[in-house]
Amino acid sequence: MRSVLPSASAPARPGRAPLKPLDLALAELLALAAPLTPVESISTFDADGRVLAHDLRSGLDVPAHDNSAMDGYAVRCADWLDAATLLQVNQRIPAGSSGHLLAPASAARIFTGAPIPPGADAVVMQEDCDAVEGCVRLRAQPRPGQWIRQRGEDVAAGAVVLQRGTRLSPASLGLAASIGFDKLQVAPRVRVALFSTGDELVMPGDVAPADMKPGAIYNSNRFFLKALLQRLGCIVTDLGIVPDRLDATIAALKGASEQHDLILTSGGMSVGEEDHIKPAVQALGQLNLWHLAMKPGKPFAYGKIGAAHFLGLPGNPVSSFVTFLLLVRPFILKLQGARRVAPESIALPAHFDCAKPDKRREFLRARFDASGGLELFDNQSSGVLTSAVWGDGLVDHPAGQTIAHGDTVRFIPFSALLS
Ligand code: AMP
Ligand code: MG
Repeated sequence: MRSVLPSASAPARPGRAPLKPLDLALAELLALAAPLTPVESISTFDADGRVLAHDLRSGLDVPAHDNSAMDGYAVRCADWLDAATLLQVNQRIPAGSSGHLLAPASAARIFTGAPIPPGADAVVMQEDCDAVEGCVRLRAQPRPGQWIRQRGEDVAAGAVVLQRGTRLSPASLGLAASIGFDKLQVAPRVRVALFSTGDELVMPGDVAPADMKPGAIYNSNRFFLKALLQRLGCIVTDLGIVPDRLDATIAALKGASEQHDLILTSGGMSVGEEDHIKPAVQALGQLNLWHLAMKPGKPFAYGKIGAAHFLGLPGNPVSSFVTFLLLVRPFILKLQGARRVAPESIALPAHFDCAKPDKRREFLRARFDASGGLELFDNQSSGVLTSAVWGDGLVDHPAGQTIAHGDTVRFIPFSALLS
C-alpha cells in the first residue's frame, strides 16, 4: 500500500479562487488536528479500535522458555542410533509444568506448550514414534531444534511491541495481554456533534414513501455519517436536521461547539441563498471554505468555533461519503494521535476504459472482478449512493488523464477505510 498523496495540480478558475488539491487540503487539515488529551487508562478488554498513547515495551521474553510445538517426546538427538533405538520415558511434562534434566538414552513425554527439559534438543511428534512398555522408539533421526519454539521468538524482553499511535486491533490486544498488560493508555474518544442541513430532508419513519411531498427526500447522509463516526470510536451527538435558516444554523452550531471536539455537518455549503453554513460559522468563529480539486466532493470547509473544530461536507450523498473517508477520517485519526492516517492505495489493473479526462482528480467507485482486476460502476454521479454500496472501493484517477483497459490504477479499498 502507498499513501494517497500524488499532487494533482490546481486548475485555475477564471475570476475565482483556484481549486485546492486534495493532498494540500489534507496536509493543512492534519496540521490543524492536534491530538486530544487527556489520555485514558482502560482495560485491555475494552481497547479494540482505540489509539495507543504510549509505546508498549515488553518486560519479558515470549515465549518465556523454549517449549514444545507438538504433543510428542522431547529427546537428545545424539541418543538416536537407528530406528530400533529404545529411549526410556522417565518424565511427563504437560503444559503448565516443568521437567528436569534429561538422562542419557531417555525421553520425556511432552505436550504442546510445555517447557523443553534441560538436555533435550528436539521434539519428535507422537505420530512419528512407537511407544513400547515405558519406552519409545523414534522412526526417523531427529534434527536438532525440531518442533521447539524458541524462547523470545515472538517478543524479546525490552522490545517495543506496539508503538504509540497504533490503532489497536484484536490481534494487538492479544499481543499486549501476552506481555502482561491488563490496562492500556489510550487517546480519548472524539466527541462529535453531527447535523444535516436542508429543508427538503425528511427522516425515514416520519413520512411514508407514498406520502412524500414533491421535492422532499429522505435524509441518507445522517445514517452513514453517524455509522462512519461510530466506527472510528467517536462519541456522536446526533443533532438531526437543522432548517435552512441562518438563525437556526447559528443556534445549532453554538450549542454544539460547547461540549464537542468536532462539529460535522452535511449540505448547505454552497453559496446560494439557502446555504447558511458559511455565514453561520463566520458569525461564531472562523471558516475556510475550499473548492477541492476532486470529484465527487467539491465544496468542503474547515472552521473553528471556540475550542471546537468544524468540518462541513457537501450535501450530495456520494460527495459526503467520499470526503468523509478521504479527509474527515484522517482528521479524526490525527485527533486521536494515530500514526497512520492517510488513506492507502494498492495497484490493480483496470478492466474498464475511462476515455474522458477530467480536470479534477476523480475517485471512481469500482469493484473487484473475478479475474483480479477492477470494474467500474456505470453511473458515477455524486448523487448515486448505489455506487458506494456496489463498489469495493475508489479508483484514484489523476486529473487530466485517461484510463485504458489493462492500465494499472491506484485503488483505495473501502475495507481499509471503513474500520
Ligand atoms: P446542498 O449541499 O445542501 O446544496 O445539497 C446538495 C444536494 O445534496 C441536494 O440535492 C440535496 O438535496 C442533497 N442532500 C443534502 N443533504 C442531504 C442528506 N442529508 N441526505 C441526502 N441528500 C442530501
Ligand atoms: Mg441544502
